[in-house]
Amino acid sequence: MIKLDDFSSFFVANWKLNGNLEFIDQFISKLSLPKDRSRCVVICPTSIYLDYMSKHKSGFYLGCQNVSQHKDGAFTGEISAESLSDLNVNFCIIGHSERRHIFHEKDDDINLKSSILITNKLIPIVCVGETLEQKEKGITNQVLAEQLKNSIPNVSNSGNTLIAYEPIWAIGTGLTPKIEEINNTHHFIKKHNPRFHNYKILYGGSVKSNNAKDIISLSNVDGVLIGGASLKSDEFTKIIQD
Ligand code: PEP
Repeated sequence: MIKLDDFSSFFVANWKLNGNLEFIDQFISKLSLPKDRSRCVVICPTSIYLDYMSKHKSGFYLGCQNVSQHKDGAFTGEISAESLSDLNVNFCIIGHSERRHIFHEKDDDINLKSSILITNKLIPIVCVGETLEQKEKGITNQVLAEQLKNSIPNVSNSGNTLIAYEPIWAIGTGLTPKIEEINNTHHFIKKHNPRFHNYKILYGGSVKSNNAKDIISLSNVDGVLIGGASLKSDEFTKIIQD
């Protein structure tokens, strides 16, 4: 099982509902991975291509973008954690703001998904983040504290989990918080509740090759979750190599 402490930093590509076989072949052929193996590179394609990628990849890990909270049974269209394990998938994004807002996922669902991933020795990447309205009301920390408390199971083995702080207003918009705001929010996440002291925290939201280095160098940032820029192999290569 992968131990997060073995890595110095994490670079997670969220391809969302993008890419096909031709795209994947080209992406993999152009991708240049960091020599520093302590940088953990995770690519999350659409789930239908996980099997293909697990046979053609080397040097990076695979992640899924969602998982069923159910073990098995009559849940048409769902993907089980056990089947992800079968395909050598090691990570799974859960609670992405698109899943929370478009598909109405709640903290309780994310908590169950997190538990079933942990049971199957997969690493949950639990996304949390505030809306612009919540930011403007000055309640970001309160919102994050609630989401974290409710989305991450309070069990001793939940520590091998990544938290992704993704301000919703920064996703796909080209906007980011000020660099010191990112560091302060990550500091808050780590310190506000003893449960989260040792968690590794990724930042996500309009990460590009021109801002990734500054973000990843922050003392409270352990990695980045990248959407749009992860679809361009040269841009993604710059981010993971820099
Ligand atoms: C995301 O979808 O999680 C994300 C961070 O997207 P982008 O990098 O495009 O803002």
